[in-house]
Amino acid sequence: MDVKTTMSGPVDLPPPMFEPAPVAGCDVCAVLKRDRETARSKGDLSKVTDCNVEMRSHHLADGR
Ligand SMILES: [Zn+2]
Repeated sequence: MDVKTTMSGPVDLPPPMFEPAPVAGCDVCAVLKRDRETARSKGDLSKVTDCNVEMRSHHLADGR
């Protein structure tokens, strides 16, 4: 049996629809959206993910 390990898997970009939309009128979302775009333009995908997580979680924390 000759099973080869693939070292380079497919590049896994998160689909855009996975990203939370900023809530209108929310200052935190506005800042996170700007940070997210800046991070994406730099190719800093972990920062992009951080922004997405925070954009969701700060509203969940509201309980609204
Ligand atoms: Zn918000």
